Amino acid sequence: MAGEGHPHEAVAVPGVRLSPGDALVEIELATVCGSDVHTVSGHRNAQTPLVLGHEQVGRVVALGRGGAKSVDGHRVSLGERVVWSVAVPCGRCARCRRGLPQKCLTLQKYGHERMRRGWELSGGFATHAHILDGTPIVAVPEDIPSTVLAPASCATATVAAALEAASAITSLEGALLLVAGAGMLGLTAAAMATEAGARVVVSEPDPARRETALAFGAVAVSDPRAANDSPLGLAAALVRGGGRGAAPTIALELSGATAAVRTLLAAVDVGGVLVLVGSVSPAPSCPSTLSSWCVGCSPFAAFTTTRRGTWSRRCAFSRRPGPSTPSVPRSARASRSRRSMQRSRQPRPARIPESHSFPDSDAPHLPLAVVFSA
Ligand SMILES: [Zn+2]
Ligand SMILES: [Zn+2]
Repeated sequence: MAGEGHPHEAVAVPGVRLSPGDALVEIELATVCGSDVHTVSGHRNAQTPLVLGHEQVGRVVALGRGGAKSVDGHRVSLGERVVWSVAVPCGRCARCRRGLPQKCLTLQKYGHERMRRGWELSGGFATHAHILDGTPIVAVPEDIPSTVLAPASCATATVAAALEAASAITSLEGALLLVAGAGMLGLTAAAMATEAGARVVVSEPDPARRETALAFGAVAVSDPRAANDSPLGLAAALVRGGGRGAAPTIALELSGATAAVRTLLAAVDVGGVLVLVGSVSPAPSCPSTLSSWCVGCSPFAAFTTTRRGTWSRRCAFSRRPGPSTPSVPRSARASRSRRSMQRSRQPRPARIPESHSFPDSDAPHLPLAVVFSA
């Protein structure tokens, strides 16, 4: 199956060995993150072969010696339904101590690591995932659909963090909030910000996505290609969302488009906040006035106006709950508490053999992983 045009291959993984604190989870559902698509498309560098997928929900089927603990300190039990963080931070390095566990100096990430002996089941696109000791794990209720829970590790967590970054500067309650992009992140933001009391306007070029944004709570939508003062333009949408003369106090850039960054910069009110989430690809996403600030912002930063046209960086994204946090769905609350969790664990030595063959067998009783090798 592997080879040109067929970069995905199912491999069996016999003899999974769990270390103390590890857990083996049978995957119930995994969702595809945009970064998985970027990797397969060759737009992101990845060491192959690897098992992609870092948004998933599943059930614990085996535990390493001593068992595993969830972020709230309870012992994870067999059969429990769980989600877990995309990142395995060490909890000890300088960055972890600075509150940036997602940028840990010895970070390992599910769905991002080259397949290696001892951690073959490292991604969600498999029948089972091997959860390493130190991974923030959250037990989740049975009555939440898997389609809601699976994205908690990445998409939902990202939006929750963006709203936290904004709400640390200005309140979501009653805010006119402008979102650029109505993909997974934009739709999640529309729903979560609406639930937190904001009136959400979404700018999105795709008509079907604009319709979906309205279904997810947006009070108005605009087409960034339409003239500003036309019925589908941004000015008209902001009037529909907030009344004549209203300017958004919060803007979330979730599209990655350079033009959207400029539009949001121009639109946000004095004292408002702009959170850049989409500016992560190598594209020249940031206007030159912001580009020097964006270097090293990981993964995004919030900016606020001091007066029209001048900006100062107020807070780098830290994944720590701000002084006021938005009301978010239960699944997102779970991911947020997971993010704030930092457990100590020794960094594991990287053991990447020069050559490593995996069994050809697709015996159904063995854990199977879909390996991306192109
Ligand atoms: Zn992701
Ligand atoms: Zn660390």
